Amino acid sequence: MGIQQDITDRVASEEALKEAKILAEQASIAKSEFLASMSHEIRTPMNGVLGMLNLLLNSDLNAEQQHRINVAMSSANSLLTLINDILDFSKVDAGKLELEYLEFDLRGLLGDFAESAVIQAHNKRIELILDVTKIDEAVVIGDPGRLRQILTNLVGNAIKFTSDGEVLIEASLIEFDSDYWRLNCNIKDTGIGISPEQQAKLFQSFSQVDASTTRKYGGTGLGLAIVKKLCQLMNGEVSVISQAGKGSCFSFSVLLGKSNASFHVIPDVDMQALNILLVDDNKTNREVLKAQLEHWGASVFEARSGIEALTISEAYFDKRKKCFDIAFLDMQMPGMDGAKLGEHLKANEHLKAMKLIMMTSMCHKGDAKFFANLGFDGYFPKPATTFDLFAALSIVAEDGEALKDAKPLVTTHYIKSLKAQSALKPDQVAWGEGIRILLAEDNRVNQIVAQSMLAKINLTHVDIAANGEEVIQNLLNTTRETKYTVILMDCQMPEMDGYESSQAVRSGKAGELYKDIPIIAMTANAMVGDKDKCLEAGMDDYISKPIKPEVLFERLLQWLPYKEIES
Ligand code: ADP
Repeated sequence: MGIQQDITDRVASEEALKEAKILAEQASIAKSEFLASMSHEIRTPMNGVLGMLNLLLNSDLNAEQQHRINVAMSSANSLLTLINDILDFSKVDAGKLELEYLEFDLRGLLGDFAESAVIQAHNKRIELILDVTKIDEAVVIGDPGRLRQILTNLVGNAIKFTSDGEVLIEASLIEFDSDYWRLNCNIKDTGIGISPEQQAKLFQSFSQVDASTTRKYGGTGLGLAIVKKLCQLMNGEVSVISQAGKGSCFSFSVLLGKSNASFHVIPDVDMQALNILLVDDNKTNREVLKAQLEHWGASVFEARSGIEALTISEAYFDKRKKCFDIAFLDMQMPGMDGAKLGEHLKANEHLKAMKLIMMTSMCHKGDAKFFANLGFDGYFPKPATTFDLFAALSIVAEDGEALKDAKPLVTTHYIKSLKAQSALKPDQVAWGEGIRILLAEDNRVNQIVAQSMLAKINLTHVDIAANGEEVIQNLLNTTRETKYTVILMDCQMPEMDGYESSQAVRSGKAGELYKDIPIIAMTANAMVGDKDKCLEAGMDDYISKPIKPEVLFERLLQWLPYKEIES
């Protein structure tokens, strides 16, 4: 009897535990869904706030007004970052974040990322260094946007918590199995560091090392928690090694798919024959560049200052009766700077044949002309990216006899063509004749915002429909002569929503004329499957709110006829 009683108790408590677990899981899902829908609700009015501020900024303002709007813009943008963080966090938590699988150029992504992060670093006079020596493959498969998000968080923190010294991004790609690479990436800083007790709390949501840090540096404590979840989603992990006062090193790894389109990244220059001089006072920068150039086969010599560079160059000439093929000079060095050193080298009979490449930390208008006048053959802003190095080396190739007929670098062209595409500005575009846009949007403020954004890129023929039924009606009221060219379709609208009206258009309810009209969705959802939902409903493309003017412009370039003009 006693034994039976015991078992009944156990069964009962197991049942209770199971129930409690289910309740807790339900509560967790409900919490995530609540967060997701809240952040969605907030994004809609944010579109109005940011859009209107953008428009105000372009009107006639005095300095004080301009300043106030800039402050409001930056606050609105911080709020948006926070909302995006919360949305991301709740999405991953609810298992609703879907990764994209795209082919992309990993070195290119890291280079572009470093170029955008460097502004923040240089404002604090910190050196940002990118080391991609150990990435030999050009193309991988994964989610470039999410990878960039991880980098933005970790590198952003590294810069934020460093007031002196440098931040190094060190990436390597190693074979994982026949289908995957493993990307390992270290972000090392020389900043304030994190104590062991504090490290234990990192990577948890809403956790910051201490309240005083928050007051001084700002932030929400969500960044690292998101990074951890993103890494896990990509079958990797993130960890930290740090010492208070000495700096931190965050390391993360993710798996990336192998692509058939990949090829080895090597410059199309006979690197074995090249003797290169590197002049920089920053040791890490020298090491990284040296490793990369040596990895490609060149012989590299280092100098820590302008004076040392002159001595080494002379000694090299005395021994070999020729000078270095190419020299990379840092502009900002104590004592003799890069420009002065360049002048000395060009004034020296023995050394003036050296090709000179300038590396600058600060870019100013007129730099190109200034350096060209000094006799430099090329320049690039630090950190040195693969693209910069290839461009610099191709300068040598242009001269080399054997290399005259060398075919252009595949990679250089590839990166260049990518850059050229994104660089088109609104004033370089003349839209085709008779473009008419139908804007389907129920929110009054957002109607004005979208309309004004379109007007700014010279698209003024815009009609508005406040719901799906009006969309169909508007389309039916037009003729072949007054035909709409594209529909910008808000997804959430009363009466008939964007999905339903897109389906109606595709099935011919708005006439044969419009069965194939391009429809671009505009949605504040940004949730998993949203894009698919739009495509399934027959829409062709997708922009998430708040709408950014440059994204709208870039999407419209895909769908509207235009001609490039010289600006
Ligand atoms: P936040 O948005 O507050 O920066 P994170 O999750 O990104 O949130 O970081 C949490 C905390 O971890 C930060 O507030 C900071 O105290 C600490 N931390 C993160 N990265 C570094 C770093 N590179 N150096 C020193 N402290 C750091």
